[in-house]
Amino acid sequence: MDELEQVYNELIMEHSMNSYNKKQLKDVDFSEKGHNPNCGDEITLEIKMNGDIIEDMAFLGHGCAISQSSTSIMIDTLKGKTIEEARGIIKTFIGMIKREKISDEELEKLEDAIAFKNIANMPARVKCALLAWHTLEDMIDKNLEQGNGTSNCCEN
Ligand code: ZN
Repeated sequence: MDELEQVYNELIMEHSMNSYNKKQLKDVDFSEKGHNPNCGDEITLEIKMNGDIIEDMAFLGHGCAISQSSTSIMIDTLKGKTIEEARGIIKTFIGMIKREKISDEELEKLEDAIAFKNIANMPARVKCALLAWHTLEDMIDKNLEQGNGTSNCCEN
């Protein structure tokens, strides 16, 4: 294992054991459940919007280390981003896991989520790593049509 892989593995372990993102939000605009029957991973994502910016996000649930840490790291990466940016980053992450060709510039936007790069070599864990990202994508598709921002948002 090279040094970078070691760092990635430690990051994944850290987030899987005791994630500060695993909690209930006080103020929730949308929530979405995700389930990976292959492994038994179950998560619920909660999101608080501010206009079209993801102001806060958290998750509850249980599952393997990969699913839990991928959810937590996704939250770190996407908090504070706009829905449009989040969509792009989700697409990049899924592309990375599916070994599509992605520019370094795009990969950089993944921040710590790049730690899951080698999951592509472990087909049995791919669904665990993608669970949170697909769940968030579903939530956005259902609730946050592109360009609309939140439908319940106030006038300034
Ligand atoms: Zn799993």
